[in-house]
Formats: sequence, C-alpha cells, structure tokens
Amino acid sequence: MRIGIGFDAHPFVEGRPLKLGGVSVPHSRGLAGHSDGDALLHAVADALLGAAGRGTLGEHFPDGSDAWRGADSAVLLGRAAGLVGEAGFRVGNLDAVVIAEAPRLAPHAAAIRSRLAAILGIDASRVSVRATSSNGLGFAGRGEGVAAVAVALLEEL
Ligand code: MG
Repeated sequence: MRIGIGFDAHPFVEGRPLKLGGVSVPHSRGLAGHSDGDALLHAVADALLGAAGRGTLGEHFPDGSDAWRGADSAVLLGRAAGLVGEAGFRVGNLDAVVIAEAPRLAPHAAAIRSRLAAILGIDASRVSVRATSSNGLGFAGRGEGVAAVAVALLEEL
C-alpha cells in the first residue's frame, strides 16, 4: 500500500462560477485559477500522484499551458487517476477536507462524494469528503479563498 497527501488553495474572484469537487456550488464568487480553480480536485489529484510517486499536478498540467486554460479539473483528475493506474495502483480510499468560511459545503458533501467517486471510477464507499471552517482564522476565515487537503491510500494491483 502507498499513501499520499495533497494540498491546494485558490482565491475567490468575482464573475466566475464556483466549482468544488467537480460540482457547481451556488455562491456569489468563484475560484481564480488557470483551470476552473477547483482546489478540492487539485488536492485529490496531488494526493494520488504523490502516493504513486508520479510527481505533481502542476508538472503534468502546467499553469502556463494554453491546453489547460479554463480546463475542467475533472478532466485533470481523470488523467491523474489514469497515471496512477498505469503505475500499477488502484485507489483504496480517499479522505478530503475543504476549508472555507462560506459557502456552507455540508449540504453539497454527498454530491461531491458521488462526483469524486465517478471521476475516479471507484465506489463512493471509498470516498470521504468533509467541510470545515477555520473559525475566522487566516485567508479562509476572512473569506478570501478556499483550501483543501486530501489523503489517498493506493493498493498495488
Ligand atoms: Mg490548484
């Protein structure tokens, strides 16, 4: 078995839809980024790549690349999962935490869990997604952006 951790954070910006965990979440602002800014999917992808020893999301899908401008992060995560499979692993389980002051994500956690499982091609019972605030501390607490942390366990095929 192999374990990996991923972290990401993106700032809120006006005039963009909010995508988190591959799900559209109603909110007044979205997340800035070269892709759709989905910090949760990026953290998950980095956890998977880290566990497999396959580098980082940024190496595989560079920020400067026109090919990935405005990209659906679900496509990036799907590609990362493909690399993990090619490396000889499958996902044992995945646990992720989203840190945001607003919007409240608990009502969307089940949909995000299902979406993550579908992107990765695994049963939703292997996926856990939780949301928390930072109790007003730091950039998340000030409502400036969203952070996400993910841990993935891989099993050798
Ligand atoms: Mg990112």
